[in-house]
Amino acid sequence: MTFLKTGGCQCGEIRYEINCEPTVVYACHCTECQRQSGSALGMAAVIPAEHFRLTRGAPKSFPRTGESGRTMSCWFCPTCGTRIHHSPAGLAQNCNLKPGTLDDTSWLRPTVHVWTRSAQPWTVIPEGVMVCETQPKDRSWLTRREPS
Ligand SMILES: [Zn+2]
Ligand SMILES: [Zn+2]
Repeated sequence: MTFLKTGGCQCGEIRYEINCEPTVVYACHCTECQRQSGSALGMAAVIPAEHFRLTRGAPKSFPRTGESGRTMSCWFCPTCGTRIHHSPAGLAQNCNLKPGTLDDTSWLRPTVHVWTRSAQPWTVIPEGVMVCETQPKDRSWLTRREPS
């Protein structure tokens, strides 16, 4: 069965599709993700860039430098401002999709929780997931793919 999921921004100007399962879906509790989402945490689905395809519209980007000193490009709809994805610095092969923009989000299960140091005190981290108080030094979990 071929994997195909579609998504887009709030106003509908940006539409995209992904045609492979994420390498990993993670939840980030850092204060930047809290600010960006206006919420308690951010989620990302790591997709190899060649499996992410824009089907409508042209997102804009701005550069943001993280605590690590690395600069990433953050892509958003120029009309409604919905963040679509970011391109992590030094990992250009990855598209870190904001998976809440998918049309169907029911299948998303974060298996990694990072920056739990700044998680809201009422957040419950499920058992059986990988947890890191900050950012794992080793970034291999962002690129490791299970053989399929
Ligand atoms: Zn939009
Ligand atoms: Zn974050």
